[in-house]
Amino acid sequence: MTKTAFIYTDLFSKFDYGPTHPFKISRLKLTHELIKSYGLLSLPDTQFIEAQMAEDKEILTYHDRAYVEALKAANAGIEVPGAYHYGLGPGDNPVFKGLYDWSKLVTGASLQAAALIDCGEVDIAFNIAGGLHHAMVSRASGFCYVNDIVIAILSILKKGRRVAYIDIDAHHGDGVQEAFYTSDKVLTISIHETGRMLFPGTGFENEIGKDNGEGYSVNIPMPPHSDDELLVYAFNEIVPPLVEKFKPDITFSQLGVDGFYSDPLTHLNYTNNGYCEIVKKIKEISPKWVALGGGGYDITNVAKAWTLAWAIMNDAEIPDEIPENFLKEHFQEGFESRKIKDEPYIEKGKRKEQMRAEVERVAGFIREKLALTGY
Ligand SMILES: [Zn+2]
Repeated sequence: MTKTAFIYTDLFSKFDYGPTHPFKISRLKLTHELIKSYGLLSLPDTQFIEAQMAEDKEILTYHDRAYVEALKAANAGIEVPGAYHYGLGPGDNPVFKGLYDWSKLVTGASLQAAALIDCGEVDIAFNIAGGLHHAMVSRASGFCYVNDIVIAILSILKKGRRVAYIDIDAHHGDGVQEAFYTSDKVLTISIHETGRMLFPGTGFENEIGKDNGEGYSVNIPMPPHSDDELLVYAFNEIVPPLVEKFKPDITFSQLGVDGFYSDPLTHLNYTNNGYCEIVKKIKEISPKWVALGGGGYDITNVAKAWTLAWAIMNDAEIPDEIPENFLKEHFQEGFESRKIKDEPYIEKGKRKEQMRAEVERVAGFIREKLALTGY
């Protein structure tokens, strides 16, 4: 049996990016409640782990000290001198009360996930609050202040492990790529909407790593409007063969949900049907697996997709009907369909053929380039 851990705390709900910000921390509570209502936290091989804050010294294993000092100062909710220099301020990365505590809690949970996996206590650990993949060494970016993923991977690398990182968020996993761009110990793979159309404007197929890291950064940019069929095709063409060849000790994944058709920030047209196929495949190819959350700005998509992902991690079959008690409480939050699985959606016509040709071109480029590096 697969042993799993779900890492969470009600304390996440203490924090708030502000009423007009698209990043809603309330989606975590919503997900936790949907998972509980399906009985998925009382399975025999599942543990619930209360998330704990990371310490400053753990944050400093990656982030620059002056930046961490700025985050600490901004924790009071008041803008600090020079904040703009660190990416902090009105807009994507607002200064809100407790922003550093929030970041330490998210990072602590990812470190707990990595430690539980590394010592062999569980096979899969899921931190739905984690996956803040845009944070840079000395700059907040894309709603991310501290890069919990990089810090958790670093905690494993120091024990000599090899890590495969798979990022399925609609946005390029630029912060994680940047951290390991010259390393051959971490294979980073990001499948995302092309940077021609979307923040952060990077993640093109020719970004393949540098020096020792050449061939160990992989980017699969997808055309806007890509659907489940193209997602699953591109993923299966590229990801499993590379991961099998690389032979990681541990897989990390960022399971962002913002590539779905109803997401307000992106232009992809995935549903949770394609998403579930990808999550199943990640499970199949991962010897051990640290699963993290990520983007997702339609909060019903987030709750449904991460509940389905958690069910897959636990080999649990769940009914398509969302439990009545959950619906009663959360009907107003947009669960009109009463079903957890989305209706299938497939693009057709000329636009689809153009997208297919583009995805095939990118897959061909990656196959050819990475065959040359020969790892
Ligand atoms: Zn995203």
